[in-house]
Amino acid sequence: MRLWFVLFLCSLLTSPVWAWSDHASLLWPLVRSQPELLEASLEAESLDAFLQAEASGLVDVLDRHEAMSRETMPHYAPRPDALAFSADAHDLRDVFLRAIRVNPELAYPLYRQTTVEDPSVPRSKAQRFADLSFLDGGVSHDSIVYIALQSGDRVAPAHVLASGSDEPDFGMDIGLFADNDTDFGSQYGFGDQPFGNPNLEYSSQAPFHMGFYHLDWVTRKAQPDLLRTYPEWRVSLFRALSRFAFETGHDYWGWRFAGWGLHYIGDLTQPYHAHPLPGVGTLKGIWTVLRGKTEEAIQLVSNRHGVLESYQYQRVQKALEEKSWDNVILAAVASGEPVPEFDDLTVRNELTKESVDAGKDLDLALVADMPPRYVSDPAFEWNGSGEEAAIVVTVASDRGEVAIETLDTVIAEQMLRFSRFAQAWINDAKRAGTTDS
Ligand SMILES: [Zn+2]
Repeated sequence: MRLWFVLFLCSLLTSPVWAWSDHASLLWPLVRSQPELLEASLEAESLDAFLQAEASGLVDVLDRHEAMSRETMPHYAPRPDALAFSADAHDLRDVFLRAIRVNPELAYPLYRQTTVEDPSVPRSKAQRFADLSFLDGGVSHDSIVYIALQSGDRVAPAHVLASGSDEPDFGMDIGLFADNDTDFGSQYGFGDQPFGNPNLEYSSQAPFHMGFYHLDWVTRKAQPDLLRTYPEWRVSLFRALSRFAFETGHDYWGWRFAGWGLHYIGDLTQPYHAHPLPGVGTLKGIWTVLRGKTEEAIQLVSNRHGVLESYQYQRVQKALEEKSWDNVILAAVASGEPVPEFDDLTVRNELTKESVDAGKDLDLALVADMPPRYVSDPAFEWNGSGEEAAIVVTVASDRGEVAIETLDTVIAEQMLRFSRFAQAWINDAKRAGTTDS
């Protein structure tokens, strides 16, 4: 069993671990029809100004959240006491970023992402991914146009929320483990990276963007490191910060923190982010190991994960560019119904359970309708194959237009889950925003 997982973990080495790419664009069909989110009702406020205004209250919020996390979250890595936020620190920003244990080297500036409904942006105001992140943007991020904001600029909650929901992929969770060779990683208390190759650019964010809360007993025993995942904690932390910002009248930060939390909710609606091997049950897994087919099984899962994300990205992008709001995938994102109420147990007990349950059918659908080379050939490596951009054309020529229709329906089913939980999260933020301001 150990061998099986060691090999699986190695397969994450090449996986970019984006989940749904470009979270801001993906959210847009849902928020664009909610009028109260579209008015430019917020005043952009720098992180420094927010921290200076509310430092003493933040000490309390973060202390309470830490105590709650230690008490209620299984496998939580306690924040070292020395990192506790202090209101009289000389450099409030650095102390805050280290207290919430994100990458303190990013600037967290004022900006927003543009949407397909924005007029074109003057060159002097336009920013690119490289202005906001130290990571390589790749296909999905290099084409995005961002706008720099100044303190006091008016901006709509929909834009702040959508932009914020992509921000955790800018490097916020990169380098946080003790063996990541960063000064903060050695202080943060998360220990060595539980899976993935610590030397590769993206892989260190995986344990924050994947949440394996429903592993069977064999896996838990054989690979306890898979239990060290933190998206549930991130969601809960950013929810606490968002509520505090709303309570104290900093609505811009209320929505931006809500955006940060929404990122992880989006990631966890992807079945390959909620289970290490979707569609492979305990017995099948053991049987695979016994037959010596482990490496092959892992390669296939890794390929299906990548193929799913590339196909979904291309289909969403095309529909957005065409503004086909009634496209089956965009309509699913926009549906937002029925909406569960969001609370501290939602991520673990509802969201990730639903994603795990959806994994098996999703896996079968990919096998049935994607080109066999992509999803059933263990000698093929999807990541870096250079086939991402043309995936839709290849599916159509290999499997026919009918396969596109079926796959779109399958993607739409995943988007319905995304939409319901995203809407529950938005309702929760709206409530916090209206009760307290
Ligand atoms: Zn992510």
